[in-house]
Amino acid sequence: MEEKRDIRAFTKEQLQEYFISIEEPKFRATQVYEWLWQKGAKSFEDMTNLSLALRQKLVEGFVINHISVDEMQRSSDGTIKNAVRLYDGKVVESVLIPTEKRITACVSSQVGCSLDCHFCATGQLKRMRNLNADEIYDQVVAVMNEAETFFNRPLTNIVFMGMGEPLMNYNNVLDAIDKITSPEGLNMSPKRITVSTVGLAKMIKKLADDEVKFNLALSLHSARDVVRDTIMPINLANPVADLAEALKYWYSKTGKRVTYEYVVWKGVNDQPEDIAALVKFCHHIPCKVNLIEYNPTDDERFQQADDTVIKAYIAALEAKDIVAKVRHSRGKDIDAACGQLANKNEVAEQVIRL
Ligand code: SAH
Repeated sequence: MEEKRDIRAFTKEQLQEYFISIEEPKFRATQVYEWLWQKGAKSFEDMTNLSLALRQKLVEGFVINHISVDEMQRSSDGTIKNAVRLYDGKVVESVLIPTEKRITACVSSQVGCSLDCHFCATGQLKRMRNLNADEIYDQVVAVMNEAETFFNRPLTNIVFMGMGEPLMNYNNVLDAIDKITSPEGLNMSPKRITVSTVGLAKMIKKLADDEVKFNLALSLHSARDVVRDTIMPINLANPVADLAEALKYWYSKTGKRVTYEYVVWKGVNDQPEDIAALVKFCHHIPCKVNLIEYNPTDDERFQQADDTVIKAYIAALEAKDIVAKVRHSRGKDIDAACGQLANKNEVAEQVIRL
């Protein structure tokens, strides 16, 4: 018997071709697409506007894959972390972050990560595979449902700041965002979506060429190659000057300012020349700086810099009219904060399976 195909891997156009090939009207594709993406149908039996015979045919030819939330942890500050099991048993994490005005979903784009940023717990995991578009989409739906259930509020924002490097899973991330923003999907505005990258110059230019409508964040952490090279090996192939050039290209095509994420560590990037380099970098294009609080991982080389240094950063940036905000961590007690997603509860199992 032929193996059943994953129907959620089909684009709407491919579904149309399929229905035409079995002599069904083209609009069946729209019906099925809405069931799969807007209504989150988990079985063909649910698709009540299709004839029984057609539903049976679909059951015979296709499967509907879905993620499952294996474990949900709640932080004392309201943050929720989901351990999400994929169809092949692998696990990623996504986070719901509630604030007064927003509810943000932080989603993963890869299982593990191939980057090796020394300060990040996810970087210590092996990258095992890219997530499919539907696995990304389903994380958003899971958080959206939790927002309704636990806070009685809608999901307002999505950030691609979970596990993995979104621009190394370019097509699936863009495909997921297409579905999230489409009226047949979740109909969310791309203005409420931010993709965060470690800084792949070529891919930032590709985003610009594709004229994407979502926001871009860059994990900068240092605007000096001598420092960035030592904490983020990806900088060797994507030096600061190349990032600046790519960002200028991005701005010329999209007109959108970029957010720079920046952690200040003792003895790493806490000197006046580090501050001066960041201020200079901020002049390339309109931008905003988020000074993120460091979330300790198991690596003791990194320690949050003193408050006086953070204040010096802010003063220097504000003196040049650059918006700078300090971002305090959320969900630290459940290892849900930036750089802490590492499948702590699952990692042993994944390593064994490798
Ligand atoms: N690969 C993408 C997506 C990850 S986003 C990227 O690099 O942007 C996660 C954010 O948290 C990044 O800005 C990352 O640099 C930051 N981060 C990683 N480890 C951290 C830690 N221990 N404390 C605070 N922020 C951290």
